[in-house]
Amino acid sequence: MPLKSHGLTQARGYVKVCCLVGGCMCTLSDCVRVCVRTVSPLTGTVLLVFAKEDSQNNGFCWACEKANFRCNVARTPEAALECFKEKHHDLVIIDHRHSRYFDAESLCREVLLIHFYLNGFVDLFGVCCCRPDREEASVMPLIKSGFNRRYVENANMMACYNELLQLERGEVLAQFKLRACNAIFTALEQSQEAIEITNEDQVIQVGFNYSVVVEFVLMFPGSSQRRHSSMARIHSMTIEAPITKVINIINAAQESSPMPVAEALDRVLEILRTTELYSPQLGTKEEDPHTNDLVGGLMTDGLRRLSGNEYIFAAKQPHLPSHLAMPLSLNDIPPHVAQTMENEDSWDFDIFNLETACLKRPLTYLGLKIFSRFGVCEFLSCPEATLRSWLQGIEANYHSTNSYHNSSHAADVLHATAYFLCKERVKQSLEQIDEVAALIAATVHDVDHPGRTNSFLCNAGSELAILYNDTAVLESHHAALAFQITTRDDKCNIFRNMERNEYRTLRQAIIDMVLATEMTKHFEHVNKFVNSINKPLAGIGDEESVKGILTSPDNRILVKRMLIKCADISNPCRPLELCIEWAGRISEEYFAQTDEEKRQSLPVVMPVFDRNTCSIPKSQISFIDYFITDMFDAWDAFADLPNLMQHLDNNFKYWKGLDERKLHSLRPPPE
Ligand code: 5GP
Ligand code: MN
Repeated sequence: MPLKSHGLTQARGYVKVCCLVGGCMCTLSDCVRVCVRTVSPLTGTVLLVFAKEDSQNNGFCWACEKANFRCNVARTPEAALECFKEKHHDLVIIDHRHSRYFDAESLCREVLLIHFYLNGFVDLFGVCCCRPDREEASVMPLIKSGFNRRYVENANMMACYNELLQLERGEVLAQFKLRACNAIFTALEQSQEAIEITNEDQVIQVGFNYSVVVEFVLMFPGSSQRRHSSMARIHSMTIEAPITKVINIINAAQESSPMPVAEALDRVLEILRTTELYSPQLGTKEEDPHTNDLVGGLMTDGLRRLSGNEYIFAAKQPHLPSHLAMPLSLNDIPPHVAQTMENEDSWDFDIFNLETACLKRPLTYLGLKIFSRFGVCEFLSCPEATLRSWLQGIEANYHSTNSYHNSSHAADVLHATAYFLCKERVKQSLEQIDEVAALIAATVHDVDHPGRTNSFLCNAGSELAILYNDTAVLESHHAALAFQITTRDDKCNIFRNMERNEYRTLRQAIIDMVLATEMTKHFEHVNKFVNSINKPLAGIGDEESVKGILTSPDNRILVKRMLIKCADISNPCRPLELCIEWAGRISEEYFAQTDEEKRQSLPVVMPVFDRNTCSIPKSQISFIDYFITDMFDAWDAFADLPNLMQHLDNNFKYWKGLDERKLHSLRPPPE
């Protein structure tokens, strides 16, 4: 036996494979034999290191005898090491009760070192025997020295016996299984030939303990080619998804990591295996109720149960614009309307002036002006009349009865989108098709919004919630309806003259952006943006690499999502008067929802938005703290928006000021 020549008398399956790896092929004819012990793994080999013969020492001696384990006793570290080198024990028990005789911890380290040299494994079982008065002491120094267990002094023979049995049946057996697996995997790796699994007497094993290993080998009977193709298949399964790759890398790293690192990696894996990687875990209920309600109301899809009442939609068929007959082009925009749009390229543009001047149809007018500024008709090869009909058709499907989610909000988001598209960094990143997608997405992103949140629709069992399975209900509806309105009638089909592939790309981008406005994904989008764009950009200076980061297809998607999200909830970054008006509108819409929930005995999704008790300043402070600040910090770091950040700061202070005076209203009372 080649193994003997290595001086490894206690040959085990894993030892043979170690030789194999070292180039000493332990082959018999065409077979690699993997020898795995089938008997109790602990048979024979326990080393007791006790300076003095006392009752504890005797307890273990007797226990070994009873368990049928061979046992050696060493009185000094030198004797222990000599004995271990020769017999190579499976289990070493070291007396740690009296430091005056020897240092148990350094002895353990030396034993482990020898074990490692002999086997290439660091899995030896070291048990230290401690005094009961040390029970409170930290086990960490012991673990660091390589001990696997602390046995608190107890000379009772049955206690010693039980300890040995538990070790044998528990950890030691588990490690033997691991070693056996390792042996077989190594053999499979190294050998082109069939593998036989035998016991030490070279008898082929069938029904032995290590069933995992047997199954594995049965998968590859005989032919090495088959084995390799199966291996390839197994391998390819593990490289499918990036997250699988990551988990595999961590698993591999764990194997060679010290205990604390391996344990930390366990926690990492636990987190990685969850589905909601980007959503912060909600705090406990005693936190600020405004934040809780916002999070509950905006970040969940109807987690609360239905109460039976059904929410009926007012409009089941898309609206036809009543004024489609009225031709309208950039040239015949009434002068007083045109006047209100003169400074539409400024952030401080007042959309409420436009809203008043055009009798609550600002989306069509502002859309015509902004789309023409960006050359959208030219890009789409679409007549201006088609764009006009399209804008009118979309605007007609916004509910003018909503206090917030009406076409003025859409026009406001379109305005912010156009403003962001002119920022230098954004222009460097996006192509014209991205700009066109962004402008269209902003225009349609809340079309047919019922003035109720996703949670409400799910709770009410609304038709839309049923249609979209309670997931991204509104956003799915906005995107789907936008394309229905656009394509059902050639008169307003702005995509009609596009080349098929270009249309598919544009459509994909629009859908992606509209779906990105769903607030359950808020933190996912913001964190991805920060990790993939802000952080890499902060680390480099040369123009070439900057360009690479900005224009990669994946990152362009992240930029577009962030852009529409910021445009969608940019109200707190507008000049104070505009910010106050928007806050009044969103609050009123939430109040109306709470009113209806109470009327219909539905669950109240956001109880703080009760018109009798709500503090609007508090709700704004929470909204800014929870959703706005981090997102705009990141967006500002990218696009450079000092004026927005200044407004945000002013507005935040304004709400704080009201709150400090315990005021609940939008504005302070007149002096
Ligand atoms: P949208 O439905 O407008 O596409 O998505 C934006 C989300 O943020 C909506 O759910 C809207 O209700 C919410 N939101 C926007 N502005 C404010 C605000 O100023 N305060 C609060 N509490 N929510 C807001
Ligand atoms: Mn919106």
